[in-house]
Amino acid sequence: MGAGSGPPAIWDLAIIGAGAAGLTCAIYAGRGRLRTVVLEKMMPGGQVALNDLIENYPGFADGISGLELAQEMAKQAARFGAEIQTAEVHSIEIERPFRILTSGEAYQAKAVLIATGCSPRRLGVPGEKEYYTRGVSYCATCDGPLFAGKSLLIVGGGNTAIDDALYLANLAADVTVVHRRDKLRADLILQERAFANPKIDFLWSHVVTEIKGNESAEAVTVRHVETGEAQEVATGGVFIAIGEIPQTGFLPEQVHKDDSGYVLAKDTFETTVPGIFVAGDVRAGAYRQIAAAVGEGVMAYRNIWNYLEVQK
Ligand code: NAP
Repeated sequence: MGAGSGPPAIWDLAIIGAGAAGLTCAIYAGRGRLRTVVLEKMMPGGQVALNDLIENYPGFADGISGLELAQEMAKQAARFGAEIQTAEVHSIEIERPFRILTSGEAYQAKAVLIATGCSPRRLGVPGEKEYYTRGVSYCATCDGPLFAGKSLLIVGGGNTAIDDALYLANLAADVTVVHRRDKLRADLILQERAFANPKIDFLWSHVVTEIKGNESAEAVTVRHVETGEAQEVATGGVFIAIGEIPQTGFLPEQVHKDDSGYVLAKDTFETTVPGIFVAGDVRAGAYRQIAAAVGEGVMAYRNIWNYLEVQK
């Protein structure tokens, strides 16, 4: 399998997505002398690169900017021979080798890792974009400590929103969950904990229609879904947790997904198609933390290596 000089006609491994999982797998694959191409539609780093300051990734006691961490991961992958190329994958043809069709050229590879991650679903209201990183966040675990002692709003009613509410209630003065219905979607055990927590309140049957502020977000306008009545609620920060969108639109139907669109995998990180693996946030059941995605990239690599050995 050794690393060749020019780009090979057939890559050992094509990694789709240059986030934490994909780049970690690329580092290991490069060191394992697999001819590896990483296909990324944006800049390397995925959601990692979008974080202002990452304080919970081990090894950086004073924190590290997401952009810097992403750039270092990409540099490390390249150092060991992985080719990182800008290309948006449109489809994968399940032949052997696999054919990966992109916005540019087509790639052939013996094994594929799907590491495309997710993007947070946006509310799509005025002020959301403007105040992102200035009082609007999509990641309570990442940004929660920056909002210590404040009154916070969380938008959503699923597991993420209630997990976030429970986590933020430990840090914040108080937390109000704004949900569009009068019933949560979250697991009952999380609901019970949230209802029992004196720092968590609920604004039922309301949707956020605008986020306002000056230097940072200071208030939201909410509207009752039935009466249409609008009111303004002051806040020290808005956490939006209305679901994530797994980046799986390009996958063939043979790669099975759960009802939310996350890719199903065995313990070996192999999907329902032998030779196609998955790691990181796009995998059903993932923990959605950078450190976890890094670990998944390593574990996927070990199983990809085994797969390629058997194919020899
Ligand atoms: P989710 O389960 O899809 O919930 C999204 C929530 O946001 C729902 O309550 C939904 O309201 C609301 N919502 C969606 N679009 C909205 C909009 N435009 N405006 C206002 N509200 C909107 O997403 P998630 O909570 O991120 O969870 C994703 C997956 O990860 C799920 O399978 C979940 O079980 C899993 N997860 C599990 C855990 C855990 O086990 N602890 C933690 C996190 C995530 P409706 O209820 O009215 O639809």
